[in-house]
Amino acid sequence: MSLTEQRSEGEWKRILTPQQYHVLREKGTEPAFTGKYYLNKKKGVYRCAACGQELFDSNTKFDSGTGWPSFWAPISEDRVLRKVDNSYSMQRIEVLCSKCGSHLGHVFDDGPAPTGERFCMNSISLDFKEGP
Ligand code: FE
Repeated sequence: MSLTEQRSEGEWKRILTPQQYHVLREKGTEPAFTGKYYLNKKKGVYRCAACGQELFDSNTKFDSGTGWPSFWAPISEDRVLRKVDNSYSMQRIEVLCSKCGSHLGHVFDDGPAPTGERFCMNSISLDFKEGP
């Protein structure tokens, strides 16, 4: 794993809001149905809120009913890192930004075609840019 945008936690604390820092750097989870993007149906690209790397395209977004923005694939597999997460007595796969290592959410295998995957993301980890 070679992160090309590495910062100290002190730097992240200065750059991010406390809420962003909690999710992105301390692997927190925003409450369901509270984030700014779970209902967003606009066309555009979702970038990492910490480093700006483009992560997800609106073309892969779907309504999962979970209250978190959900995608069936990243823009390309090299934009994300997958890491086994055994916290809270669950076996889950954590999803991190491949550029800065920030926590984005988790990926599950109950998503729609064509991948069958569901990237369950925190809105606060993303920065949406509307576009064609
Ligand atoms: Fe990032």
